[in-house]
Amino acid sequence: MKGRIHNRKDITNNKYGKLTAIRFAKKQISGVKFNDKIPYTKYIWLFKCDCGNEKMINRNDIISGNVRSCGCLSIVHGYARGGKAKPIYNIWRNLKAKCSNPNHYSYAEYGGRGVKVCERWLKFENFLADMGERPKGKTLDRIDGDGNYEPKNCRWATRSEQSSNQRRYKKEYKDKLANMRTTILHKK
Ligand SMILES: [Zn+2]
Repeated sequence: MKGRIHNRKDITNNKYGKLTAIRFAKKQISGVKFNDKIPYTKYIWLFKCDCGNEKMINRNDIISGNVRSCGCLSIVHGYARGGKAKPIYNIWRNLKAKCSNPNHYSYAEYGGRGVKVCERWLKFENFLADMGERPKGKTLDRIDGDGNYEPKNCRWATRSEQSSNQRRYKKEYKDKLANMRTTILHKK
């Protein structure tokens, strides 16, 4: 076994985050590391994750700490990565802010009107678990436009499926925006 991994560290049975190294699987020459002249060799190991999944992973990614699970961990943590936050994470952050931050530009229409985010959804992981990823072309719709952000009052809906409350509200909001713009123009 040692010979096959070419003088590289044997990590059999070592534990990294949720992953346990099972065995060296293969060497992989993959692209270049620094420039066109230096090929980058990956040492692919088979790992078993605490969740039960087995996965082939580049050993360097494990040792550097970049990978700590088969993907079941990064499903959650990958969402919030700075500057690269996934849409679903921004949706969640935004709805929390609308309901709790008086400085948010929409606070008056949400928190200011008593709309709350349920206790369970104060944790992103729970919101994601209940709603799943946003389907293409759909937005988060509150069935009762005066109701809270909570599982029983929320769904992903296309514009035409949006509740009539929401449509009415959108028109009111548009009118309001138009008024604001007019006011700003007049102030100039
Ligand atoms: Zn896993």
